[in-house]
Amino acid sequence: MIVDYHIHTPYCGHAQGKTIQYIEKAIEAGIDEIGFSDHLGRYYLTHVQRRRYWDWGMDERTILRYCAELAELRALFRGRIAVKIGLEIDYVEGAEELLLPLLDHFAFDFYLGSIHCLPRFGWKHLADYTVYNEEKVVAEYFRCVRAALQSKRFHSLAHIDFIWRYLRWPKSSAPALFEKEIAAAVQTAVESGTCIEINANGYLWSRLNGSEGADPFVMLLNNIRDRQAPVTIGSDAHEPALVGKSFAEIIPVLHRWGIDRCMTFTECKSREAPLG
Ligand SMILES: [Zn+2]
Ligand SMILES: [Zn+2]
Repeated sequence: MIVDYHIHTPYCGHAQGKTIQYIEKAIEAGIDEIGFSDHLGRYYLTHVQRRRYWDWGMDERTILRYCAELAELRALFRGRIAVKIGLEIDYVEGAEELLLPLLDHFAFDFYLGSIHCLPRFGWKHLADYTVYNEEKVVAEYFRCVRAALQSKRFHSLAHIDFIWRYLRWPKSSAPALFEKEIAAAVQTAVESGTCIEINANGYLWSRLNGSEGADPFVMLLNNIRDRQAPVTIGSDAHEPALVGKSFAEIIPVLHRWGIDRCMTFTECKSREAPLG
């Protein structure tokens, strides 16, 4: 079974194409189940901050339209592809309670948790943390990853690889630091019953930049295999052409690692599926 559980739509304001085109592309790519996970807006910012900083997600009114369109598309494509409706939600420590009233209004299939910013270093996107001490940012990122997993608010933790894709590596300590932090994160995922996402961009970064013995994506796969951690898989497509991106390469790699199951979700209930 081929599933893609990380898909954006134009509703977030920074993805291309029409929602229906993502589904058509998924069918073309032989995908059996497509999980939409567009960004929830930055619910933890004040109105003034939302004007000042980039808000990469949907407000409540937009979520309504997102859900309504996806419900119609789900019915339209029934029998050809399963359409799941989810959200990608920023995890911000201490703001968990703000999520409840938002999510109570809707019936989602799954939630991806993401860390796109670390309040300790301000409200900018992680990619803009160029002025900070990298080791401190890495440690804080993984501390928040563990907190997000322990919150049990999410079905899967998206793109853990963000931290090594967007930041300069701490010079001397990088491999040992990532080894330790990734192991702790995957262990926390197992204990909290949360999946770790295999993100296509993480795989591609590794293929281009990873080096022997210092490739965090390989460390991640080793830990997932050794700890039997549940996973979801996603392309993080922000345009229709990228649905199922590199899956033809990634799935055999996962099989080689002995990772041959992934999780799917219906109304927040998980089901294991054979991968590929
Ligand atoms: Zn994201
Ligand atoms: Zn995303």
